[in-house]
Amino acid sequence: MSPYQYGANNPIKYIDVNGDSLQVSFANDQARNAFIQVANRGLEGQFEVNISGEGIVTFQATEGGGDVSKLSKHGQAFYEENNKILNAGGITNLNVDYGRSDVHTGNLGAMTIDMADILQFNENPSQLGGTQIGKLTHEIVEQGHAQGGRGSIIGDPYRAWQEHHPTAIIAENNVNDSRRIDSRTLYGVQDFARGGRTVRTLINTKKPGTWRTLWMSTNRNIISVTNRALN
Ligand SMILES: [Zn+2]
Repeated sequence: MSPYQYGANNPIKYIDVNGDSLQVSFANDQARNAFIQVANRGLEGQFEVNISGEGIVTFQATEGGGDVSKLSKHGQAFYEENNKILNAGGITNLNVDYGRSDVHTGNLGAMTIDMADILQFNENPSQLGGTQIGKLTHEIVEQGHAQGGRGSIIGDPYRAWQEHHPTAIIAENNVNDSRRIDSRTLYGVQDFARGGRTVRTLINTKKPGTWRTLWMSTNRNIISVTNRALN
């Protein structure tokens, strides 16, 4: 999506094409390396993620690259969905961690994502089921919308999650080329469908049975993700 298309639905004064709207802070090198690894996989060699000294995230054209039309449909959706947050008005703050006990993929209230959890999902974006670039997109879009350019979440994180999780699923679906059809109340299970096929993604955590919500302190992490064909 070009800035001009974006402007068709948004006041022109809010357009920021410089990519200074997503600011990340990394808990450690593992978190940083995993974030860069997953983002660059999504950008398929046409672009590279760049993180400034202040943590500002931009997608920069590679030497001889920079052609959105050469991206696969997964890469194109990854580029476009995330660029909307990178170029939105205001600021989105995001803490990027690796193996943090109170973050289950993403923790909206803590404004934190866990790259160790995200790495458990499918590496290949054309695979049916949850994918690494789909999860990274989901969490960035969810934070971006919940923070609304303010750089923080105002009010109850659970209400913010209820409001913005569906938007994040749409972005995730666009990246994955498969559709999440899971119940929002069935924790640890995500179902995906494509072309008449359905797969159940079972998210295994350290202490099954005690995990309740996405935003509370849980002392749990995703330790594996398995896909089981349903039909
Ligand atoms: Zn969500």
